[in-house]
Order: sequence, then C-alpha cells, then structure tokens
Amino acid sequence: MMKILTKRLIQFFYGFLLVGIVSSVLASPAPGIPREFTPFIDYDMSVRIDPQTRVLEGKSRITFNKTRDHVLKLGAAFEVTHASINEMPYEPETAEDGSHVWQIPYAMLRPYDVEIHWRGTLHPLDDTLDHEQTLGRPVAASGEAGTFLPNASSWYPRVINGLIHYSVHIELPPGQRGLVAGKLVDEQETDAGYQARFEFEHPSEGIDLMAGPYEIASENYTGIRGEPILLRTYFHPQIGQLTGDYLEAVKRYFKLYESWIGAYPFSEFSIVSSPTPTGFGMPTLTYLGINVLQLPFIKDTSLGHEVLHNWWGNAVYPDYKSGNWSEGLTTFMADYAYKEQEGEDEAREMRLDWLRDFAALEPGQDEPLVAFTSRTHGASKIVGYNKSAMLFFMLRDLIGEDMFNRSIQGLWGMQRFKVTAWPHLQSAFEIVSAHDLKPFFDQWLNRSGAPNLTITEARQEPSETGYRLRVTVKQTEPPYQLRVPVVVQTESGEETHLLDLQQTEQSFTLGLNDKAQSITLDPDIRLFRHLAPGEAPPILREVMVNPTTATTILSDNEETRHIATTLAEKLQRRAPQRLPANQPIPTVPTLVIGLQHEVDAWLEAKELSAKPEIVNGKGTAQAWTLTSPEGTSLAVVSAQDNAALEALIRPLPHYGRQSYIVFDGRQAVDRGVWPVRVQRVAVE
Ligand SMILES: [Zn+2]
Repeated sequence: MMKILTKRLIQFFYGFLLVGIVSSVLASPAPGIPREFTPFIDYDMSVRIDPQTRVLEGKSRITFNKTRDHVLKLGAAFEVTHASINEMPYEPETAEDGSHVWQIPYAMLRPYDVEIHWRGTLHPLDDTLDHEQTLGRPVAASGEAGTFLPNASSWYPRVINGLIHYSVHIELPPGQRGLVAGKLVDEQETDAGYQARFEFEHPSEGIDLMAGPYEIASENYTGIRGEPILLRTYFHPQIGQLTGDYLEAVKRYFKLYESWIGAYPFSEFSIVSSPTPTGFGMPTLTYLGINVLQLPFIKDTSLGHEVLHNWWGNAVYPDYKSGNWSEGLTTFMADYAYKEQEGEDEAREMRLDWLRDFAALEPGQDEPLVAFTSRTHGASKIVGYNKSAMLFFMLRDLIGEDMFNRSIQGLWGMQRFKVTAWPHLQSAFEIVSAHDLKPFFDQWLNRSGAPNLTITEARQEPSETGYRLRVTVKQTEPPYQLRVPVVVQTESGEETHLLDLQQTEQSFTLGLNDKAQSITLDPDIRLFRHLAPGEAPPILREVMVNPTTATTILSDNEETRHIATTLAEKLQRRAPQRLPANQPIPTVPTLVIGLQHEVDAWLEAKELSAKPEIVNGKGTAQAWTLTSPEGTSLAVVSAQDNAALEALIRPLPHYGRQSYIVFDGRQAVDRGVWPVRVQRVAVE
C-alpha cells in the first residue's frame, strides 16, 4: 500500500449513547512516504495461523527488481527457519529490539529473489484493550475470537519504507476465516480448514491480516461500468443478523459515489468485525469492533466515510508533504452530505458546530490547512477535517453545484491512482469552472485563522425605485476576499445579497424595493469565520473543556461537596480550580454545581437569570448554560438531592453538545441547544 493504502485509524470517543462509542475517523499516520513512482517489490507469501495455539508459520518469496537499497524486518517474536538471497544463504542481523533485519542491496543490474521462512507464537488476543491502547501498540495478536496482524508489528519480513505488490495465501483451521486487503482470487473450505488467496495490484505500503470465527456473507454488485464488485461481511456469529443492513448500506454508498464521482476503483469491499473496540479503514475493507457495528448509526455515518475513502485517499493519494486534502473532501462528501440529505437545518447545524469548535481552539493550536497531514489530536481535526470540508462548501457556493460536481469528476479522471496535492485540486476546479481560484485557495490553505467580519454601518435613503441601503463591512488585516451573504429584512420579507468584500473596510449600496428594518451578516453560516461574541448559543462543553474554567460548589454539606467535586472532575477531566461561592463571578468560564435551593439562591444573589422555564421543575436534575451580563459563560448544574447529583456523574459528560439537559435519575429526558443569535444590525 502506498500511504493511501495504509489503514486509517478510526478514532472513537464516547458519544451521547452511554452504552456505545461513536466513531469518527482518523487520518493515515506516518506521513512522508515517497509517492513518486517506485519500482515495486513483489511478495508471494503463504501464511498459516492456528488461533488456538497462536502459532504462525509463514514463507515468502520477495522479488526486488530495479530497486534501491531496502531493509527487511521481521519481529523479535519470530524465529527464522530459512533465509536465502538468489539461493545463497542470507542470515539476518539482530537489531537492538531483537527483530531480524536483512539489508537488501541496490538491485538495478540484477533482480534479487529473497526467500524467507519463519514461525513464532503470536501475542494472546487481549479483548480488554480499548481503542487507544490498540493504536498505541502495533502488536500481532491472535485468539479464537480474532486475529489481527497489523503491518507495523512486523509479523512478516516487511519492507521498511518501500512500496510492494503482493499475493498472500492464508490457511486457517476449520471454523476460522481471514483476509487481507485486495482481490480475492481463490477460496476453499474443506474439512482441513479454510484457505484463500488475495492479490493487491496497486502499490501498497504493507499488509494487515485479519481472521476470526467469521460467517461470510457475499453479494455481487454490478458497478456503474458493468463490472462485478464483491461485497462481503466477515462478521462474528453474534452479529450475523446485521449483515443484510450493512450490505444494503454499502450498496447505497456505491450508488451514490459511483454516480457522483466515477466507477469504484477496486473489485471488492468488505466489512470485517473485530473483537476489540477498535476501527481501521483500509482499501477494499473496513475493520470495526463488534460493539461499534452494533451501534445503529454507524452504517449511516462512519461506514459511508470509510467507503468514500476508497476514492479519496485510497485511490487518489494525498501528497502528505503539501497537506492532506482527502479528509476534508471525504468529510464534505460523506458526513456533511448526509446532513444535507437530512435537511437544511441539520446541515447548517453542522457548519455551526465546525465554527464553534474552531472558536474554542487555544492560541497556537490553529495551523494552516497545508500543515495538516493526519489527525493526531482534536485540534488537527478541527482544521484538517472541518475547515477543509468548509473550504469545499465555500468552493461549491463560489462556482455553483454543477461546476463543482463536474470538477470532482474531472479530478477523479485526472488523478486516479496518482499522488495528488492541493494544487492538483485547484487546477481541476479551475479548468472545469474557468475561474481563477488562486486567491481562494491561497487564503484558505496558507493562512491560519479565519476572517472576523462585522457590519459597522447600515443606512438607507429613499430612491426612485424604493430605497438605497448603504452597508459597510469591516474585517481584520490582511483582508480576505469573500462573497459575504447578507440578509435584509424588509417590511415585506427577506432578501439575500452577496457583498464582494476585498478590503478591510468596504461600503456597498444595495437597491431595495421596500424599506429595510434590519440586516444580518451570514445568518446561514456559509463562510468559515470567527463567530461574533454571543453568535453561537453556548453549549455545556465550552465551559467543561475550557482549561481556564473555574468551579464553584455551592453546598456546605460534606457529602454533597464530595459528589460535586467528582462530577466536576469527570466533566473537566482534571482537578477543578475552586472558586468560593461568595466570590464575584470571574471573567473566565465558570461551572456552578449545587442542590436546587442553593442554585436558585445563588442565581438570585448574583442577579443572574433564574433557572430557564424549559428545564424548571422537570426531572431530578438539570444543567444549562447562560451568559452573565459581563459576558462570562456559565454552566449550572442543579440537583434535587445528593442521589440525583450522583446520578449525573456518568451520563452528563456525554452531553457536552447541549445547551440544556434534564435528567430523571441517570436518564436524559429532555435536552436542546439555545437558538442562534445572528449578527443582526438595525437599519436607520
Ligand atoms: Zn477519514
């Protein structure tokens, strides 16, 4: 696999479903693999695994033809039973970590055939590992519930930093089935067990192998060009009933993306279940935890994202040196596109979430899009996925949907199986749309941050045909070039105008039929920009995660204080910074926790709004956000007694995206987000 073919790690975080895990997607790790055409190294490999004894036996012929120097590495857990180069013995060296290493010389003049046989005992499968632990340790592990041999574990003599083609023959005992990424060319099941051979015809960075007590369900799908595509689930028996829904969902995505972009570039796609709560995306397959697959929304969200990566990422390869565009385009055409299918409000809500997340970045966490290579922390997702997806959204607004879609198809036609950088995308869009997009791409790729926009003046006077409205918009230096949507409210309704903003301060004159009452800047959140103060409704998470948040516990009762402290720790994932209740409200975000009567009294003493109507008197506990007259964001937690407060400790941290929530015991019974307060300016 080239980098593309590298598996992408799918990162999980706890979502609003307490039982479950929500997935979102991580980019390919380890950027920097050269993507230029490289003469390939061919593997012809056979591997036999017995998950009961965990013994792996393998042999491989590796042909180096017209290649530079290479290093082969086999993990320390294995013993080498045969090694030769062009039929001469070739003993490996032992590296510091105990692994076996072969130096393969420059093979320009003569090809090298390397033959290696090896065997060893794999680590026992540890299904108590969580996702992060699985990511942190590339360990080849096996057990009857599942076998996962990640490339990075060196479970076979792998090439370090080289691209390979492979043919892999897998043998497993009866009841077990397995696969690697690629085309299934042969498969047999007898009393002796299961055998299958897979070939990968595109340049690949390595081989990941999965096996388990799978039930295989297959369906033949006919691609847009009439070619057969084999769709499969390799599911553990306990989730066998999910097969039909998953295969249906995959077919839906194939229909969507083949007609939107072009023919699926591979001959199979499989969904493979894992006994550990992990997730990986690879070409031709996705490997997801059993518990993840059981979540009802995965097939409507993450699965589509993973299927789409077979176009963007696994077939058009990002050039990591100049920034990874594939996560943004995949987010735009998968996660975001599904929101647009749900409705305009849902789509707008997602754009607002992106801007809100961006606004919550700490100074120094923001980077230009060209610096994004793969997801390593939350901040990189906010730029590499969200800002990048918003770039494509704004680009579609700029050139129109039809030109956008034709450019996407043009990009696919030009760059399929090629290393592709941002400038290739820019050219594809420029050629098709006949727009000069240099300023657009320059400002969104090379600058960090976002524009800050305000309407500083809105005055009108009567004209011959109605009214002339003069609007002045200001932005910070250096100016962005933006088409700023403004909505003018008149006596008879609303009109949208686009202001072609080029300077830091610029005035526009709009002709109106009716008298204007007010004007609103970008109410539909169509620009990537800093939200104005108070524009986004405050949500609980803003207070919870802010590293400066102060915590005020209102109760004097020792037990209540203890429970409240534990709750504050869980919400903030750190020890709370205490602020006594009798202190003035600070300027930093503040979390306030107490019993009902204490909270009511405190709000009154501080002259803050009382408990909002929408939560008042409901359930056993409530949490909500509010903004003090001085602009401080507060999150208030109020419970009727200690038991009700304690019941929040587990569930409340999962509801950060809400502005208010009501609990009855541990059960969330009502929740919501305060309405957006847009930048509306009254017109004189
Ligand atoms: Zn992704």
